[in-house]
Amino acid sequence: MLTVLTVKEAQERIIASLNDTRTEKENIPVTDSLGRVTAREIVATEAVPPFARATMDGFAVRSSDTFGASESIPSLLTLKGHILMGKEPPGSLGTGEAMSIPTGGMLPPGSDSVVMLEYCEVLGNQVAVYRPAAPLENIVREGEDFQEGSLVLPAGHMIRFQDIGILSALGIMELEVYARPRVGIFSTGDEIVSPSEQPKPGQIRDINGFALSAQVLESGGEPQYCGIIADEKEGLKRGLLTSLERYDIVLISGGSSVGARDVAVEAINELPGGEVLFHGVSMKPGKPFIFGLSGGKPIFGLSGNPVSAMFSFILFVRPALRLMQGLSAFPAFSPYVEAFLDTNLSSPGGREDYVRVTLHEGPSTSGKEAPLRARPVFGGSSLLSTMVKGDGYFVIPRDVEGMLEGSKIKVFLF
Ligand code: AMP
Ligand code: MG
Repeated sequence: MLTVLTVKEAQERIIASLNDTRTEKENIPVTDSLGRVTAREIVATEAVPPFARATMDGFAVRSSDTFGASESIPSLLTLKGHILMGKEPPGSLGTGEAMSIPTGGMLPPGSDSVVMLEYCEVLGNQVAVYRPAAPLENIVREGEDFQEGSLVLPAGHMIRFQDIGILSALGIMELEVYARPRVGIFSTGDEIVSPSEQPKPGQIRDINGFALSAQVLESGGEPQYCGIIADEKEGLKRGLLTSLERYDIVLISGGSSVGARDVAVEAINELPGGEVLFHGVSMKPGKPFIFGLSGGKPIFGLSGNPVSAMFSFILFVRPALRLMQGLSAFPAFSPYVEAFLDTNLSSPGGREDYVRVTLHEGPSTSGKEAPLRARPVFGGSSLLSTMVKGDGYFVIPRDVEGMLEGSKIKVFLF
């Protein structure tokens, strides 16, 4: 029998049993680091920017020399020289002096601001300044972006494009990250054939193998598709044993229910050191879900139903992959949009319902102004079209038996 847990209980048990297991650390080039997770904090080894720079084309000045300057009574400064891009200034700036400077040019010692070109006029060897400059105006100070010694990225941070930018600014070419968790993926079922084959009557192409591989990739793991295994316990045990040696996590889909041909639970329990920790979660789709361990390595037994398998992945496998690669199991915030439900929906209660929706702009039919409307994609929970057509999903909680048209919902985007 299924001893059914809530989604939250199931997540907590998985996280607790992973025991903060992380993958190994490795050094990789910054150019390969997008989406990887820092294994140690990154501190600025130098100031960024390394010197004070102009943010406008104009003239470097001492701001005190321009106080009171106006259209009718400009400050007249001596043109001391020209600052070139990528070069040190030709000298320092004294009282009553100015130097022309391009955007990004290095400020000369003695200057503390830049007056925009538009407010200056060169008159022979003099510059007339028609507007006062405030101290620090139109400049970026040395270390204003990041001070030398300051924290740039904490450990356990997923590298984004802007992070690659600051690593480049610091001249950091390599960084230490957690290895991508290696995930072995099996599909099981007497009826399943490879996607490249022409199925005979009664046979079905393997949807889960490649789709789950894609979900693993999306979650920062390294998928290895291990093929199709028939509904036969000994064969499944052999497959599991080999893959447990090679991978950090093993996923199987199919055979996770309670039918005569559903051998996943027995197979996991009979592995050396193997144990099913729980079987079944009160959610739809995705109720037949198994979580087990063998030699401390997690085994996820997902339903063969592709939609169920995808949701079990989102809710249970993804947090595990996040943890193993150095992140928190759940992000501090998930990308969602708020929308108004387009129709009344009933739900049996007692389980979480994961409803796939499409999003549309415009006012809701209930007359409320709404930036977005969410329309459930109709079709049984086993239909892949509900995922393919859906833009995202929302959750009807266990203690809610229905939702009214016009309800405000959070749609998590695919
Ligand atoms: P099971 O979890 O084995 O009871 O399978 C549930 C449903 O999903 C059945 O209709 C299976 O034929 C189907 N199914 C199982 N594995 C796959 C797969 N890898 N790709 C597509 N459909 C599958
Ligand atoms: Mg099956």
